[in-house]
Amino acid sequence: MDKDEFKQFGYRFVDWVADYLTRIEEYPVLSQVKPGEIKSQLPAQPPIQGEPLEGVFEDFQNIILPGITHWQHPSWFGYFPANNSPPSILAELLTAGIGAQCMVWQTSPAAAELEEVVLEWLRQMLGLPEGMVGVIQDTASTATLVALLTAREWATDFEANQKGVRMPLVVYASEETHSSIEKGVKIAGFGKENLRYIPTDDAFAMLPSKLEEAVLLDKERGFKPACVIATLGTTSSTAIDPLLSIGKICRQHNLWLHADAAFAGTAAILPEKKEMLEGAEYVDSFVFNPHKWMFTNFDCSAYFVKDPAALIRTFEIHPEYLKTGQDAKVKNFRDWGIPLGRRFRALKLWFVIRYYGVEGLQKMVREHIRLGQLFREWVEREDNFELMAPVNLSLVCFRLNDGRKEEDLNSLNQEFLESLNQTGKVFLSHTNLRGKYVLRMAIGARMTDERHVREAWELIQEKSSELLK
Ligand code: PLP
Repeated sequence: MDKDEFKQFGYRFVDWVADYLTRIEEYPVLSQVKPGEIKSQLPAQPPIQGEPLEGVFEDFQNIILPGITHWQHPSWFGYFPANNSPPSILAELLTAGIGAQCMVWQTSPAAAELEEVVLEWLRQMLGLPEGMVGVIQDTASTATLVALLTAREWATDFEANQKGVRMPLVVYASEETHSSIEKGVKIAGFGKENLRYIPTDDAFAMLPSKLEEAVLLDKERGFKPACVIATLGTTSSTAIDPLLSIGKICRQHNLWLHADAAFAGTAAILPEKKEMLEGAEYVDSFVFNPHKWMFTNFDCSAYFVKDPAALIRTFEIHPEYLKTGQDAKVKNFRDWGIPLGRRFRALKLWFVIRYYGVEGLQKMVREHIRLGQLFREWVEREDNFELMAPVNLSLVCFRLNDGRKEEDLNSLNQEFLESLNQTGKVFLSHTNLRGKYVLRMAIGARMTDERHVREAWELIQEKSSELLK
């Protein structure tokens, strides 16, 4: 492709993205295609000769786009958001254009040093303890795996030094913890049977007394408690585990404490939400996702550690072909995680933070929280609706409850959710809280404003009346 053709398509694609984001409300939020529908329109064999980009772009619009679920739609209320933003998109374009592979400092000094600077900005923005050092991982799942592997190395070092024998290592997390913890525990070799799910209180937050009981019991039985994962903002209901009490238990029993704040971490940029980090001084590792609520294109997870040496000891490798003259003076992020190759992810984060500023980001997050509380009030006021969990941030868990038998409510609510999502006007997802099927109204898409939340509520009322008729 020559420069003129590249520019011609480049300008058109930027126009297309700008129009897409402006007209996004014209699309159904959830893709309406049936399984196999996209595949059936695509040739099974690759083209032998190259094709003009014009035809590829046409197919993108006619075949691919109908199979896209529109996460940037302002009526996106499912899961948690995966926000992009114009400055982030443009930075991704530059990243793709540069195409640098940033495994070590030398392979792009600016990438390594910008990552250091931007992560230190983030640390300050959230109010994490001074001295914690950050690195970008692709996802929270990876960051948690990295934490578990580091905790394993740390615990076995300790074990070998103290006793010279290896006992089964145990990991603790609340029963509301994200599934990535179980996955990490399996991959890191702890064994699924050595993951203890700690009961939660009425607000779905971990009960520290139950954690301590479990730790003591494991010690008695000859297991070695190794790591606790506290969740700040659980996936089902944004419950906040009490970090301070959990931290004290970890300190007393010499346990690694990892905090998973994948979604909710962003809210810590608000002075009024900093309390969720009370006890952060006990935390060994912490992750949150700018790719969720900080308007930075997927993927971008910010991972902070108290002791970088423990992290590096776990992951460092020194093959001859990667040695450089600067290794003693710089950070080589290849040793701070699992993959060798690294994308230049710091650039988009830098663009986002500079473009919006801390105050701009606070304003957007605060507005989402206001809308969440508004929606909660509407749910609480309506007789046929039931609020199912405290609304700590902007996620509202609720269900339809017209007083029928408990065993019939789950299927009623499943049908209710399907009827909402089938309209294509909104997308909500669901969860299960203590056996109850619950709808999740997760407010946090960048372009969501009060109109979208009001329209969603009107639709919810309309569909519920139809269902209960
Ligand atoms: N932890 C929590 C609490 C989450 O809510 C999620 C996803 O929603 C994850 C971890 C996984 O995030 P990722 O997709 O970045 O691995």
